[in-house]
Amino acid sequence: MSYDLLFEPVRIGPVTAPNRFFAAPHATGHGFSLPAGSTALRAMKAEGGWGTVAVQITEVSQDSDMANHPIERIWDDVYLDQHAKQVDAIKAHGALAAIELAHGGMRARNFATGVPVIGPSDLPILRPEMPVQARAMDKSDIREFRRAHKKAAQNAKDVGYDILYVYAAHDISLLSHFLSRRTNFRSDEYGGSLENRARLLREVLEDTLEVAAGERAVALRFGVHEPGAKHAMTYDGEGREVVEMLADLPDLWDVNISGWSADSATSRFTEQGYQLEFTSFVKTITDKPVVGVGRFTSPDTMVSVIKSGKLDLIGGARPSIADPFLPNKIKENRIEEIRECVGCNVCVSMDSYGVPLRCTQNPTIGEEWRRNWHPEIVGKAEKQENSLIIGAGPAGLECALTLAKAGHQVTLADAAEEVGGRARLEGGLPGMHAYRRVIDYRLWNLQQMGNVDIFTSSPLETDDLEDFGADNIIFATGASWRRDGVGGSNFDPVDWAEGTTVLTPDDIIAGVIPDGPVVIYDDDHNYMASILAELLRAKGCETTYVTPLASVATWTAHTLEQRSIIGRFKSQGIPIHVNSTLSGYSNGVVTVQDAYAVNSERQFEAAALLFVGARLPNKRLFDGFVQTQSATQGVLAGDCLVPGMIQAAVHSGHRIAKELIYGGAGPFKLEKPT
Ligand code: ADP
Ligand code: SF4
Repeated sequence: MSYDLLFEPVRIGPVTAPNRFFAAPHATGHGFSLPAGSTALRAMKAEGGWGTVAVQITEVSQDSDMANHPIERIWDDVYLDQHAKQVDAIKAHGALAAIELAHGGMRARNFATGVPVIGPSDLPILRPEMPVQARAMDKSDIREFRRAHKKAAQNAKDVGYDILYVYAAHDISLLSHFLSRRTNFRSDEYGGSLENRARLLREVLEDTLEVAAGERAVALRFGVHEPGAKHAMTYDGEGREVVEMLADLPDLWDVNISGWSADSATSRFTEQGYQLEFTSFVKTITDKPVVGVGRFTSPDTMVSVIKSGKLDLIGGARPSIADPFLPNKIKENRIEEIRECVGCNVCVSMDSYGVPLRCTQNPTIGEEWRRNWHPEIVGKAEKQENSLIIGAGPAGLECALTLAKAGHQVTLADAAEEVGGRARLEGGLPGMHAYRRVIDYRLWNLQQMGNVDIFTSSPLETDDLEDFGADNIIFATGASWRRDGVGGSNFDPVDWAEGTTVLTPDDIIAGVIPDGPVVIYDDDHNYMASILAELLRAKGCETTYVTPLASVATWTAHTLEQRSIIGRFKSQGIPIHVNSTLSGYSNGVVTVQDAYAVNSERQFEAAALLFVGARLPNKRLFDGFVQTQSATQGVLAGDCLVPGMIQAAVHSGHRIAKELIYGGAGPFKLEKPT
């Protein structure tokens, strides 16, 4: 298929995007607090061919303070120098620079700035767990907000941004809060009818167009559909009416489904292009260009989306994180080299924690400035060393590819019949197929290189290692799930009673299915226990989910999956017991007790206990190697060094390769405050 269509320029009001690739605004986890890092991250996307690079939510005033999320700020002149540098860095590669000007309204909390949170009505903010309320804005507040937004737009224009956003999406915007019947209880001209609720949005759009003055484009980011929300905007209701009302006012429509967990849905619960069903109507209403997202990574899909008139520009946040060079690879017909986003939302979870982005597929994201890592380029090693990598899981594959690019002679050996390690095994679980992309990208690239030998079905023992004569041996032999009751909330090993069946995820992945009811005890708190619960339920096992923490799969709140997981449990009839600590398993009965109360035991019949807790590194081979006192350098990588997320294993493989290539950890910069 020809992909030329994707490289046509697109006119956006007074500016022209050089192609249809639009790096959508997304949180970087560091924003204004580590500005050099954020700038380098965005510039990398421009270098990789994204024709437009948009900057994430940028607070227009101090009463839009979203700390603990270090997003962007433009409400004080102190931030302008950095914005100017950022614009230059993006434009240096020929891309347009866009900025998502925003006021968080009832999603701000103003802990850092200490001023009142504002919104359309006197209500608690839209983070119910936070002890903060919003104050209903009076007319002078509205005037002040418009003034601040206009000033921010002027500043953004002055520093050179090409596209100025007005933001009304994700339920993270004052303008959305005015639009929604859920949050707007006003009785003046800004409340009541949709026309009134949309008044402020229209005014701010007009203000921004006035500032842009035909020299900059104005984009409107609008959540046209809010699945599951009360009094929601819907694509066949008020969401559509708003688009009809404002049809040709903005120069660009950036449309999505809201809130964030709907917009950033994971591959476990959605397919590529999952938003089009709700967003494609927009192009039938407006003559202005439309951009939308939906984890687009396939160029064929992109072409068909454009051809069928659903979008004009292909928006990508996660696809541009996983592969900043996705457009250039398509342009040069290097399709197999695309590092496709696996849709895991590790990136999202890092932002949720307020730390620089991390990505399962792209270990270099967030490290562009700090460590000077490039997603595509690895400098040649001074010496062409001979490196043996044992274990072709995520860590081994990434380490092998990075060393091979640097010119090492690489041998990659794995005991299994196929490469991939846990990415292959977990990729076979329900909903996890996209995780295999961690293998696909690396394996294909390794297979193209003349300096790489890959051996499967090759279990290595200590004696094999000396004969090999490698300069370096990288042990990436993974980790195994513990059976002994040790997990996040219990460090004391348990001696299980005679005659009980205690299984681990390794057993279930290997195909063991208990004959009778199963209690799944989740002391891991990421995705694994919930996936296995679904799998066992689908196989007909009566399955009960128990966890010592206060919520189901607690970490998945950060990957935005927790609500969907609980929904699945409910629909599949999997009972949930939170705050429930495992206290015994004998005679076919699992006993748990309330984590906060004594004498509160509950019992569940169980043919098996599936214990999902900690993991132990598979270090047997490394320990044997160390005892040989070989002169060869031996290094641990990935889960074998320390068990963690697949993302951490990939990062570890990359880091260790770079350390071997360059000798030492390389640059590691901490930013000075600006
Ligand atoms: P990581 O996530 O750190 O990459 P994985 O568990 O995914 O770790 O991968 C470890 C890989 O190491 C598995 O594919 C496993 O088959 C392989 N492996 C473990 N021990 C040996 C060994 N002695 N010889 C060869 N391969 C091994
Ligand atoms: Fe995609 Fe996962 Fe990377 Fe995020 S962390 S960009 S979801 S692969």
